[in-house]
Amino acid sequence: MSHEHEHEPEPEPEPAHELQVRNPATEEVVATVPAADAADVHAAVVRATRAQERWAALAPGDRARLLRRFAVAVDEHREELARSEVLEAGHTIGNARWEAGNVRDLLDYAAGGVERLTGRQIPVAGGLDVTILEPLGVVGVIAPWNFPMPIAAWGTAPALAAGNAVILKPAETTPLTALRLAQLALEAGLPQDLFQVLPGRGPVAGAALVEHPGVAKIVFTGSTAVGKQVWAKGADRLKRVTLELGGKSPNIVFADADLEAAAAAAPMSFLDNSGQDCCARTRILVQRPVHERFLELLTPAIESVRVGDPADEQTQMGPLISRPQLERVRSYVDPDAPGIRGKAPEGPGYWFPPTVLTGVDPRARVAVEEVFGPVAVVLPFDDEEQAVALANATDYGLAGSLWTRDVGRALRVSRAVRAGNLSVNSHSSVRYWTPFGGFKQSGVGRELGPDALTAFTETKNVFISTEGPAQ
Ligand code: NAD
Repeated sequence: MSHEHEHEPEPEPEPAHELQVRNPATEEVVATVPAADAADVHAAVVRATRAQERWAALAPGDRARLLRRFAVAVDEHREELARSEVLEAGHTIGNARWEAGNVRDLLDYAAGGVERLTGRQIPVAGGLDVTILEPLGVVGVIAPWNFPMPIAAWGTAPALAAGNAVILKPAETTPLTALRLAQLALEAGLPQDLFQVLPGRGPVAGAALVEHPGVAKIVFTGSTAVGKQVWAKGADRLKRVTLELGGKSPNIVFADADLEAAAAAAPMSFLDNSGQDCCARTRILVQRPVHERFLELLTPAIESVRVGDPADEQTQMGPLISRPQLERVRSYVDPDAPGIRGKAPEGPGYWFPPTVLTGVDPRARVAVEEVFGPVAVVLPFDDEEQAVALANATDYGLAGSLWTRDVGRALRVSRAVRAGNLSVNSHSSVRYWTPFGGFKQSGVGRELGPDALTAFTETKNVFISTEGPAQ
């Protein structure tokens, strides 16, 4: 499919040693930052290793205090960070403020865990047995562009709290908020080199982090395809790896649901962040008796979504991140396919209208692959069994929602859907104090929640004999 748009000049080639940051709402270059190469990554690992030793030697209370000061610094610069996220990622200003607040909350939560990160004493004969949770060392965090600030913090905050150093590689398109977070950490008093941000290209700086022997763990958030490469490369050194990957999440609407509420909530469950959300509920499964009525309710809700300037307080949906992403989304949607379409600006900027496709074959690419744009499909189903089968009929298993008034059904279906984050009569997936992560090809490991710090430690068991050397 080809699309000719008069507002789309050929992008200029980018020099290898720098990254150009574009405002996705205008296509203007708003900043240029140096791009790290393998030598920069190596130098950063050497510095981080030294900083980590000093950091781990601090009293836990002192580490916690410094992380709280970092949280305060983020809070004091919340509006500035949010504006920066609007500029580089095209997020609506309301969402961007929430994201900066999420970083602050996460730092606070992680700080609260420092003194509670304790091992165990296990009864043994002839001595004392203790487990010690030790930091891993240097942790590499590789972040995507869709939530540059929160996802940077999801890995960084608990890793630092558990006594590690962090090298963060933000996505090529969105390095600005990450760089600012590193400055704020220094201003808050965190040791030099403890938290370093290295913008760079994935196959260069990202790959160098994954391959570096001095990096103990990689926290990767991004596409399933790159996640598999990261896991395979990390396996050479049996590196600890957490993978947060793609999704194609179902939104199951049963006939007994509060249909008005389900239809009102459905649009932003896949249009938030222009659909560039790993938890986006892009497969709307509707029980056949209410299918027509649901579409009647959904149509005005989709058509009235306000798409435009993300800095405008009234805007509900901004642009896509980049031209390649816009082309990718277009490749999934036949302009003549039946469905519901909202409005979007013409350009410049990477705009795509809210789109709900009907009459789609459940096995079609658009029904099973992650589009990562404001596109959902509606698929009818007959009974609970079919709903679960459809919900599970993708390689992904990140999130999902179900709408019903029947408590028994809510529990049965929640247990039967193979996904890490489910919500009943809600689309809420992310809370910094509850675990988050994927089943199947949506990932490996969990982030956030009460076990977040433990994931950045090694357990060491020490047996101390009280009976002399023979034991
Ligand atoms: P991507 O995989 O293209 O890139 C992610 C990061 O990996 C970037 O920083 C990139 O520079 C880096 N990278 C690329 N090639 C690399 C390599 N060979 N070695 C090491 N690093 C490399 O993903 P994206 O397009 O930036 O992000 C979108 C994807 O992220 C979607 O699939 C989305 O579902 C997923 N995502 C998942 C979660 C989650 O928590 N499960 C959250 C947000 C986004």
